[in-house]
This record gives sequence, C-alpha cells and structure tokens, in this order.
Amino acid sequence: MAIQVRFLDLKAQYDSMKEEIDAGIRDVINSSAFAGGPFVERFEEEWAEYCGTRYSVGVGSGTDALWLGLLALGVGEGDEVITVPNTFVATVEAILRTGATPVFVDMDKVHYTMDPRLLENAITSNTRVILPVHMFGQMADMDPIMETARSHGLRVLEDACQAHGATYQGKRAGSVGDAAAFSFYPGKNLGAYGEAGAVTTNNEEIAKKIKMLRNHGQTKKYYHELVGWNSRMDGIQAAVLSAKLRHLDDWNEARRRHASEYGVLLDGLGALQVPGERNSCRHVYHLYVISSENRDGIAGYLRDNAVETGIHYPISVTKQKAYCAFAEQGTRTPIATDSAALMLSLPMYAELSTAQIERVVHLIRKGLSH
Ligand SMILES: *Cc1c(COP(=O)(O)O)cnc(C)c1O
Repeated sequence: MAIQVRFLDLKAQYDSMKEEIDAGIRDVINSSAFAGGPFVERFEEEWAEYCGTRYSVGVGSGTDALWLGLLALGVGEGDEVITVPNTFVATVEAILRTGATPVFVDMDKVHYTMDPRLLENAITSNTRVILPVHMFGQMADMDPIMETARSHGLRVLEDACQAHGATYQGKRAGSVGDAAAFSFYPGKNLGAYGEAGAVTTNNEEIAKKIKMLRNHGQTKKYYHELVGWNSRMDGIQAAVLSAKLRHLDDWNEARRRHASEYGVLLDGLGALQVPGERNSCRHVYHLYVISSENRDGIAGYLRDNAVETGIHYPISVTKQKAYCAFAEQGTRTPIATDSAALMLSLPMYAELSTAQIERVVHLIRKGLSH
C-alpha cells in the first residue's frame, strides 16, 4: 500500500509523551485550578524565560493576545496600524476590534514577511503601531522595522503566533518588539489541547494592563479599574503547555531537518520556489510553503495519492467579503495578493519520517510532469 502522509498528526505527538500530558492534566483537576491560577502562573514564568522577556501573560487565544496587546499599546479609534495582508485574518480582526484602521504594506517575495522598505510611505500622522507577522515560522526583518518605528515614535507588536522559538540575530520571537502575541492553538509549534494565547513584553506597564484587561479590568476581585474582558488562560491548557515546552526545541530542530530534506530533494525543480531563510535567523517552519504556478495541479495530484496539503491562505484578506472596504489597498500589495494563488503548504511536523518526505517530493516531481 502507498505511504499516506497526513498534513499534521497531533495524535503521534500525544503518543510520544502521553504520561507527561496525562499527569499534568490530572494535577490541574486534583487542585481545581481551572481558570487562571498556579498552573497558568507557572507556564507564564516558563514562557517568559524561554522567550527571553521579563513578562508573559496568558490569555484565551492568539486573537485575544493581538487585540489586548494593541489595547495595551494604546491603540483605539482613529489610529492606524500597519501590517501585511498575507496573514491569518485574526491579525486584521484584532486591529478592527480596537476601532483602529489597518494599513497594508506588501510582503517580500523571498521570505513572505513585511517588506520594511515600504513602511516609510505607509506612515501617517495617525499611525500608532507597526504589526509585523512572523510568517510560517520565520521572523520578519525586525532591525529595519524597529529602526523605522523608533524614528517615528511608533510602537511595535509582533504577531508571533506562528514563530514559537524562532530567532532573529539570536533574539527569540516575542522579545524584539514592545510586545508580542502568541497563539497556542493546537496545530501551532507549541499547541494546547484547546484555545490559548499569551502576550510577552519587557514593559511592566504593558504586562500589568494585559493582566487587568484579560480579567474584567480588575486588579482585585470585583474592583474594576478598566473595562476589560474574560480572556484568562485555562489551567489545563497551561499544564499541557508546560509539559510540551520541554520538547519545543527538539520539535523545532526536527522541523528544520525536515525542511532541509525537502529543500535538497526539491532543488533544481525550476517550476517551484522553496522557502527562503534569512541569514542569522532561525526559521522554525510552522509551515513549509512552496510556491508554484502549477499549485492546484500539484495539490490535486498529491491528494489523489494520499498526501494531504494545505493552502495558507487561499484568499488574501483584502479580497475577503468581510474586508471589501480594503479591496483598493489590496491592489497596492500585489505580491501578497497574487501569492494566494501560488502557495502550497506541504506536510510538516516533528514526527514526519524521511520516507514520507521522499514520498511527497517524488509525487511533486511526477505531478509537475503530469
Ligand atoms: C493562529 C494565528 C492567529 C490566531 O491565533 P488563535 O489562537 O487561533 O486565535 C493570529 N495570527 C496568526 C499569524 C496566526 O497564525
């Protein structure tokens, strides 16, 4: 029988560490620490230490981390936030939820992240925050982004939802901007068993504000200083994340090995582009995304041969029905807009075997000459 290749296999990961996970969940149930509490505090400390930041505040999801992060940076009605259109829709939702307006700049063609050369032209007197997305596991080009932000008195929020453990010149994702948003959605490089997220920062004031905002704007129970929300992290999610964090570096290394295997095997196939790694940066391959004019042909051929793939994302945000107000902006970000028809995400997770990778590439070669 032909080798099947799933796009993602969370069960294989669970099987590799079942005892640790089960024990962690049992501890939470035995101490009835379900919403916030000691398991969340422990994970927050571990995550801040891992990222190299002073603070990490657990919240309900990556989407909430982005939204509360923007609020804590003072973003609101009348402000503009500069970001990229080639992202998961949550980045843009979070901006709109604060009452601010998204302003899109294009991505760079090789790394799929914000092109910093386009920032100057996008800045107006209303710009408040720059929101780069560390797309597919590779950090955006943070030096020029931070430099431009500082020279205009702007703050930077990193969307690090796909970049757990990635580095930029030795600095971990989440530690470079004024604050960063992480998602622990199950399929991310560090994934919970449900919804969870976090904001990291070195700024005490921002950390304090997020802690209030995620818990009904209170510092003390039933004393509400701000209009907040309920976005606490679950104890069970925190326990799962603490257990998994011990394996994150190994998993990311396995992803990097798989990426280089794909890279070697796909080399020389002129009809497609493999992901480009920025110098002195550690890409953690949340997704392994190739780009080809014959994307749909390749995807169809793989599907017919029991290999799952994904498309991230099939329609650029500026072309989505709910975001038609930004359609005109989409015409000014042609690289991102057009990339939606070219990109294909290949199977990528730590437990993938060399035989599976060879099978995927063999089928891509056959599919291309089909
Ligand atoms: C996953 C993701 C989010 C949203 O995170 P959730 O935890 O699903 O709310 C935001 N931005 C990017 C780039 C993501 O990949």
